Amino acid sequence: MSGKSVAMRQILRDLRSRESDMVRLLARFVRCESASHDKAGVDRFGHVVAREWRRRGAKVTLLRQVRRGNHLRTEMWLGTGRPAGQILVLGHIDTVYPRGTLSCMPFRVSGGRAWGPGTFDMKGGLVMALFAVDALRAAGLAPRKRFVFLWTSDEEVGSATSRPVIEREARKSDAALVLEPALGREGRLKTARKGTGGAEILVTGRSAHAGIDPEKGVNAVHELALQIERLMWLNNPRRGITVQTTVMGGGTVANVVPDQARAEADIRFVRLTDARALEHKLRGMRPILKGARIEVRGGVNRPPLERTPAVVALFRQAQSLAREMGLALGEAATGGASDGNFTAALGVPTLDGLGAVGDGAHSPREHVIIRALPQRAALLAGLLASL
Ligand SMILES: [Zn+2]
Repeated sequence: MSGKSVAMRQILRDLRSRESDMVRLLARFVRCESASHDKAGVDRFGHVVAREWRRRGAKVTLLRQVRRGNHLRTEMWLGTGRPAGQILVLGHIDTVYPRGTLSCMPFRVSGGRAWGPGTFDMKGGLVMALFAVDALRAAGLAPRKRFVFLWTSDEEVGSATSRPVIEREARKSDAALVLEPALGREGRLKTARKGTGGAEILVTGRSAHAGIDPEKGVNAVHELALQIERLMWLNNPRRGITVQTTVMGGGTVANVVPDQARAEADIRFVRLTDARALEHKLRGMRPILKGARIEVRGGVNRPPLERTPAVVALFRQAQSLAREMGLALGEAATGGASDGNFTAALGVPTLDGLGAVGDGAHSPREHVIIRALPQRAALLAGLLASL
């Protein structure tokens, strides 16, 4: 089935008539707090999400975790005969807000927006996925591919336990759609994301009296300062490389030459080849002051989501579906990473930022624009039906 044959306007009309149902479900989702560090909370919310999917006839598998919340794998086949492949949809059920946040930041609706912790990142996206599936059913469309939705529990804390699950499922998928928030009020999709990495630099010197015999010491803070200056020169905005020393410390008291110092750096890059070169340079860092020792830890965490021709093709497909609904759809690159970086790195065409339109992620001003909920759900439905 081609994108053109999907009755986008009909789907949008149907979803618009269900806008208040979407807001009601969003309220229920937001009121069930699910901070990444709170396993009991995430599991409770996961249970609520699982129930919604089971009600729609999905096959839900609980992927149990010991320390983090359990992940959910939700499989759905709305077609006839055998599926011609698999589409992966990624979302996370955890939020950055600790339990109790609701008491000072309750869910509320005002000015055409729904406010509250996790509305935008990304409980609004979770709601959209459920309604997108409803809309496909209502329209009587038979998609060619099976859908696998992964609802993971640790995206906001680096996805350590969900990464292998995401990668396993991605390898079986023809495309990955990511329900992270859209960019800006116009709801742009994210067709490029920088990769992320980190470095920790540990310096060991030798302590001495800072006034009487400083020459007997090796100043670890001086050494670190020189190393940080070298890190600064690794920045290359034109190539999209940023290396920012974000944490530093060292020394004990004012009159002692410090024998310890450490710093942490945040590293971002557009191209994986640049990341490998950066790793090489970090590993090659040698002490500058005589007698100092340095140790460098870290490296690449999330590979970049590069704007490949396959990614552009996915975006064009989304754009043409939006156009059929009379909506403009743009694209953007971002310095932030998501789980889409993992699927993209495996060569799976990945379209990110398909979630809610709003603002204020990770802040007291977090909200979604209600009018956009049915539009985005319709867009997702169109992609699911036409890919
Ligand atoms: Zn998110």
